[in-house]
Amino acid sequence: MLGLKQILTSLRAGKERRTGEKLAGMHSMSTAKTLTEEGYTELRDAMVETQIRKRGIADERVLRAMRSVPRHEFVESHWKNVAYTDEPLPIGGGQTISQPYIVAVMCAAVHLESMEKVLEIGTGCGYQAAVLSCLAREVHTVEYREELASGARERLQRLGYGNIHVYCGDGSLGLAAFAPYDGIVVAAAAPHVPEPLAQQLTEGGRMIVPVGGEEHQVLLLLTKHGGKFSSERKEPCRFVPLLGRHGWKDVWI
Ligand code: SAH
Repeated sequence: MLGLKQILTSLRAGKERRTGEKLAGMHSMSTAKTLTEEGYTELRDAMVETQIRKRGIADERVLRAMRSVPRHEFVESHWKNVAYTDEPLPIGGGQTISQPYIVAVMCAAVHLESMEKVLEIGTGCGYQAAVLSCLAREVHTVEYREELASGARERLQRLGYGNIHVYCGDGSLGLAAFAPYDGIVVAAAAPHVPEPLAQQLTEGGRMIVPVGGEEHQVLLLLTKHGGKFSSERKEPCRFVPLLGRHGWKDVWI
């Protein structure tokens, strides 16, 4: 049985370990006794300092949002104690909750100041939608898989996130009913920028989307000016595939 102190030490050491050892370490953390809320808060603060601020994310609003959202509430009970590791984690159906650092990079890239309307594609467990909801006025999020959409809807409601609307459908088409959006965050890997999403961005709006092959992608930041787009390449990344009309048509998961 591990206590909070050992979990914190293990989290801090996590970066240097090799994958096999890391998984074994995660397993022992996952079987550790359940932590108190104060324990999770301590892990979360350590996550923000060591995985996010230290790697160059300086936006205080993003850091505050990442400190406030209880990531352990978004994973299955046996993953709670590893919810704050520097890793994506399984959320069922072959899907993953993104690594905390990547969530922070994406949220910082869309530069939210509090009054924006945001669209997220790929709700998953709802974690990134919760972080976005602390940064913007309202969040609309679309999930392809019915069981994930209903799970996220129920969880976000239970945790009191009142400004998030979860829909089930093909998010590669965007969500025309509430367009345009000041920010769009795509949390699944696209073969190219989905055209309907570009159309649904406001003038001056920003979209962050992982684009590339099935194995490796790069986060692309698009900004709309005068109906045209400028683009900037951010981090290399690895996401599960975006399905649907403007995603990978021949991938089955
Ligand atoms: N943001 C999520 C992680 C997303 S994982 C979180 O914080 O947990 C990517 C998600 O995209 C998966 O749940 C997958 O089912 C979903 N997805 C894949 N293609 C999609 C599409 N065309 N429309 C909506 N969701 C899609």
